[in-house]
Amino acid sequence: MKLFTVGPVQMFPRTLELSKEQLPYFRDEDFSNMMLHMEKQLNEFLSLKHGTSIFISGSGTSAMESLVACSFTPQDKVLVINGGSFGERFVQLCQMHQIPYDEYHITFPEVFDEETLATFDGTAYRAVLVNLHETSIGQLYPIEALSAFAKRNHAYLIVDAISTFLADPYDMDRYGIDVTILSSQKALACAPGISMIAMQQDFYETMVEPKEDHAMYLSIKEHVKNMKRGQTPNTPAVGVLLQISDRLEMIKEMGLEVCLQETAEKAAYFRSLVKELPISIPAFPHSNALTPILIEQDRAKEVYQKLKAVGYYVTPSGGSLAKKLLRVGHLGYVTTSDYDELVKHMKEILK
Ligand SMILES: *Cc1c(COP(=O)(O)O)cnc(C)c1O
Repeated sequence: MKLFTVGPVQMFPRTLELSKEQLPYFRDEDFSNMMLHMEKQLNEFLSLKHGTSIFISGSGTSAMESLVACSFTPQDKVLVINGGSFGERFVQLCQMHQIPYDEYHITFPEVFDEETLATFDGTAYRAVLVNLHETSIGQLYPIEALSAFAKRNHAYLIVDAISTFLADPYDMDRYGIDVTILSSQKALACAPGISMIAMQQDFYETMVEPKEDHAMYLSIKEHVKNMKRGQTPNTPAVGVLLQISDRLEMIKEMGLEVCLQETAEKAAYFRSLVKELPISIPAFPHSNALTPILIEQDRAKEVYQKLKAVGYYVTPSGGSLAKKLLRVGHLGYVTTSDYDELVKHMKEILK
């Protein structure tokens, strides 16, 4: 079985090896030290110099919900960039937690447009919420434009970077990103179960600390308080934390630049191979994390099923794109020869 999905992804042998071990007890100094070291490492990869990262046990959506619930009030209007199902999730969370919002709605296959974004200038938004790589369709939005918008409108910039972090260059300090949301099962190539919120100190002190908690399990304040000594408020997904710690170590050893380069090369290699196939790639900018491909004659489901039958899993799509769009991931333990095999099978199916 080979996963060309975007989460969970094909895990590295080293991560699988680690997963066999007995889990340690966690209310203990060794575990705390590992957590604190991991936070430092993560902040370094994010270019977060003055801030805190917390580790929540739950999939990526739990960090999205925690952030919305613990940072904003009905007095804070936000702007949501909604270009797919993850943008829609931010909209639903705002509705659920009674946070007023406007939406910049991007309909597939429209390209994110800086001039359209500028039509939202002048509204007193407290924050911009964006899934920088909208994984559901594979569009990577321009961080420069979003950063400039947030700056000139004095709005916080909240970035769900779940599928772009470690696949594309990312820099919180450079782009004035106030919060980054991450999850264990995408480019980190670990099991699902841990999501992360990395915050600038100023954001935490202004938006989170003074606010009354409307969540207990997902309380950011409780996580920050515990994280000061490398702990979590409740029993965390211990095994996944160990995997993340090891993966960050792995990336440190190889170098973040090399990690990004390898993913970019895999994406470019796959994109060059599929040029010969009767498919098309939407014209918007892409992340190195995945390639969205449009299959002719509504055959996307058939292609997915036939690839699955030979042990190759690509990512199907939902909703109105289910018959047309497949997404092929470039994260985790997949190599160029895996893409040779995958494309050989795709050619056979589509001929
Ligand atoms: C995967 C993903 C999420 C989180 O989804 P979960 O299923 O809750 O882990 C959120 N945002 C983006 C952009 C994603 O790719």
